[in-house]
Amino acid sequence: MESSLVKDNPLLLPLNQDKTVYDGFITVQVSFYRTTFKKVLHCCWQLKHLLRGYEHIVKQVNSTRPAFPLSLQEVGLKSRPDCRSIPPPQYYSQLISEMETLGWAKLLSIDTEFQTLRLKAEDSSGRQHVLTVKLKSKHPAEAPECSADLPIPLVITWTPQSTLDQLHSQFLLLLESLTEFWDVLDEIDSKTWILEPEKPSRSDTTRRIAIGNNVSIKVQVDPRHPKMLPECCLLGAEHVVTPLRNKLNANMQLWNPDSSVLHNLRDVLEIEFPSPATHEKSSFSVECGICYSYRLEAAIPDQVCNDPRCGQPFHQACLYEWLRALPSSRQSFSIVFGECPYCSKPITVKMAAQKS
Ligand SMILES: [Zn+2]
Ligand SMILES: [Zn+2]
Repeated sequence: MESSLVKDNPLLLPLNQDKTVYDGFITVQVSFYRTTFKKVLHCCWQLKHLLRGYEHIVKQVNSTRPAFPLSLQEVGLKSRPDCRSIPPPQYYSQLISEMETLGWAKLLSIDTEFQTLRLKAEDSSGRQHVLTVKLKSKHPAEAPECSADLPIPLVITWTPQSTLDQLHSQFLLLLESLTEFWDVLDEIDSKTWILEPEKPSRSDTTRRIAIGNNVSIKVQVDPRHPKMLPECCLLGAEHVVTPLRNKLNANMQLWNPDSSVLHNLRDVLEIEFPSPATHEKSSFSVECGICYSYRLEAAIPDQVCNDPRCGQPFHQACLYEWLRALPSSRQSFSIVFGECPYCSKPITVKMAAQKS
């Protein structure tokens, strides 16, 4: 009897060896009928049997405290304040059987509510991914909420007959459609110096690649067409950026989608990217000439003095505050015109974008 009692009421735990004393939660559903209450005790017949003789306690609650929510504390049993969020017992047996089909080795973690699961998945290139699944109390009737570190929206097809195993297979298919995108970015990450983002995640589609001292190119790779010409933006002092921009425009039609993005960028810009094999990162991470640091919150010094003999980099926020404080500067809309704090040559800066 004890085993089926515990099986039907997974929230009950025996408190002694003889399994005659239990603690835990049971669900009581109360319906409202004008001035009277009708209550239904949701539990197995064994528990009903055990509770026989105590109905008057429940009755007493009905007559003296006809108010919602009716908590089980009031009938002398411990309960959580919101017992309606606890899934029915079938939920847990369903979850276990689905996990058995999927394989327990794929479960990275599960929360104490047994509702949020982190499942691991490996794509054909050996990259490790994590699928976070938040099951609804009505699982599998209701679709779970899924999330993962992906550059595209995670769209999952779910029917009341769906299982975690099928969900996992859909996720693997989606990962396979993105392997080319990650191949492109992994090559860039391993063979060049990435200035931004500091630690790229699998969902990041942009890379700011160092070209030289204070010159970089920001590329945005399309996850659906990763080998096509990405959106490019050259950053740095004008006298270095202009010839590169001209080459990019002139050689654009040479872009070969069968070749890798890094290879194409080399050919189109007619440069060799400095790589971890040939250069130290410190040669591209020159600190800001105003605050003497490299990272200011997330920003790096990307405003560069255009004078070829100076070329000092500044953070946008630092330079904006510096120039605005000088009486010799003038402002037109969001742009401040002033002098470089290092060489006194003209320099302009746009007001930094407001953080949302
Ligand atoms: Zn600064
Ligand atoms: Zn300067």
